[in-house]
Amino acid sequence: TQKVVLITGCSSGIGLALAARIAKDEKKRFMVYATMRNLSKCEPLVEAAGRTLGRTLEIKQLDVCDEASIKACVDSLPERRVDILISNAGMGLIGPIECHSIDEMKAIMDTNFFGFVRLLKEVLPDMKRRKMGHIVVISSVMGIQGILFNDIYAASKFALEGFCESLAVQALSFKLNISLIEPGPVITEFERKVYDEGLKTDLNKADSVTANMFTNIYLKNYKQIFETFGQTAEDIAEHTLKIITMKNPPFRHQTNTVYTPMTTLKYADPEVSNAGMGLIGPIECRSIDEMKTVMDTNFFGFVRLLKEVLPDMKRRKRGHIVVISSV
Ligand code: NAD
Repeated sequence: TQKVVLITGCSSGIGLALAARIAKDEKKRFMVYATMRNLSKCEPLVEAAGRTLGRTLEIKQLDVCDEASIKACVDSLPERRVDILISNAGMGLIGPIECHSIDEMKAIMDTNFFGFVRLLKEVLPDMKRRKMGHIVVISSVMGIQGILFNDIYAASKFALEGFCESLAVQALSFKLNISLIEPGPVITEFERKVYDEGLKTDLNKADSVTANMFTNIYLKNYKQIFETFGQTAEDIAEHTLKIITMKNPPFRHQTNTVYTPMTTLKYADPEVSNAGMGLIGPIECRSIDEMKTVMDTNFFGFVRLLKEVLPDMKRRKRGHIVVISSV
């Protein structure tokens, strides 16, 4: 029997390549529901899907920031069945935090992190009942190691990784698999969108040293990093296909070995506001709003505070930022 695969963010990039590749599986092992926020952007996918459209691939509307749209999409599937959930929709944001409002940062968290959580809340109870399912998240090497001027984006990927690590123990009892796919740079729309937005950053809100670092170090090397180390969306699709066909899929999978030393170092070298809230319990019993409150206190509580004191610390070239984190 065919496995049902639901993928988010399929109008471009990795999502599009993934949907087309899985639908074209030679053994026709999968039925793919390729979803996107805006169906008017389906043309490139229709083209890539070719003859699989209407056979092993169907296109559906799904906005990961809209609970009603997620429910409507899952309800429309035969028996609401999802065997393999691939959470791919995501957005980037680069630049000094002095130049981003808390609302802009929350939008990244809402798509990249809560987008996945909303979707999972919709499919997890059924997966548990069936004792079958594979949850695949397109994370990033930045889910393990933060990178200059990617503060919020990296945080959103760390959030995904922490969430999935916490869920892994439960998943075991229900025979569910979880896999985090961690690409390095991938040449997609993402790169261009993030760069173009980066160029528009109002650097007047940052001091000159920071602004200079962003423009003359970060942005200057940005394109070259993608050109030198970038993989294609099709590469990531091949890696992901391999992961979903494995009998015992790994919890983490990096697609680019260039980045492995960097992420390994993180654990070898421990160099790196005391207000926090805990929230325990099955995610089925918590609303997205409850979860957002925890994020708002534990994470944005720090970010708000940092935005207020960082410019002065930078000016004085003096300061020590201590965060009470957790194992
Ligand atoms: P992309 O911009 O081509 O694809 C992202 C897709 O997500 C777009 O189609 C966009 O429309 C969709 N999306 C955004 N908000 C949405 C919403 N609310 N509901 C539904 N869809 C929404 O970029 P990509 O490189 O293909 O990115 C896909 C994933 O890969 C992202 O999670 C990204 O963080 C991750 N990733 C990308 C890179 C890279 O360098 N490109 C590296 C590592 C990880």
